Amino acid sequence: MMNIGSGFTHLEQITATLDMPCMSTRMYDKLHDEICEAWEQTSVETMKNAADEEKALAVTDGQVDANGVPLITVVADGSWAKRSYHSNYSSLSGAAAIIGYKTKKVLFLGVRNKYCTICKIAERANMSLTKPHKCFKNWTGSSSSMEADIIAEGFSKSLEMYGLIYDKLIADGDSNCYKRVLDAHPYEDVIVEKIECKNHLLRNYSRKIRDLIKDTSAGPLVLRKQIQQNQLKLPWAISKAVSYRKSENIEFTQKVEGLKKDIQNSISHIFGEHKDCQNIRYFCNKPYVAHGTTMSDLKMTGRVVL
Ligand SMILES: [Zn+2]
Ligand SMILES: [Zn+2]
Repeated sequence: MMNIGSGFTHLEQITATLDMPCMSTRMYDKLHDEICEAWEQTSVETMKNAADEEKALAVTDGQVDANGVPLITVVADGSWAKRSYHSNYSSLSGAAAIIGYKTKKVLFLGVRNKYCTICKIAERANMSLTKPHKCFKNWTGSSSSMEADIIAEGFSKSLEMYGLIYDKLIADGDSNCYKRVLDAHPYEDVIVEKIECKNHLLRNYSRKIRDLIKDTSAGPLVLRKQIQQNQLKLPWAISKAVSYRKSENIEFTQKVEGLKKDIQNSISHIFGEHKDCQNIRYFCNKPYVAHGTTMSDLKMTGRVVL
């Protein structure tokens, strides 16, 4: 029941419809706690196993610091949802996870809640709670900072939990996660490095292109229409170039250089100019066309800086 977000009331309704006797609330709560505990236990074990896998891979690849502590790259992301408990009350809760880049398995999970039903009922009835309860409220800060708080906590605990250092963080461009992680000073001798997530960058790129198409002050309509017709190709070209460069059997720095050229040339290629296509060669063999292309029209607006 709890997996689909339902509780005892729903169970009662379903069993009544089926003309089946229902368990008592007390029994339900007991079973609920048992399952929750087992679930938590399993998640702790699974995350520990994932951390061991990451550790072994790092050691094999020689990625350890001066003291022999394995260094790993992690991906972090979170979400927060507005959930309404009563018609006149809405509350917020957020979750985030840290995932090992190599194994793609979860290493750390966290939840922040600004709401606890029992506290709220007591507060509303203006009474003080005499018995202790399992309180779910563990956050009083802003909703948007929940994610960063969870991720910073995961970094701070990585040595103690797994004997691992998360030395590179892949996260989206606009979150304040990275700053929180740096402020937490999780490691004595290692400064966590941030790697921008390709998916987030391309999403931002696509959004900027869409804004440009709609912006009437951004240039003549004919050209904005041309951009609109090619709006999917622009991020797609970069995505394809990333895959190609990744598969090349050369030094990492050379791959980066190659990708840089691909990105700079992508607009010229798509709009018919093919400036460096013959140089780069692997995806297009067309010669450079200096005049009469959409690209030359775009350049004439004086807004294209390449
Ligand atoms: Zn509470
Ligand atoms: Zn081309």
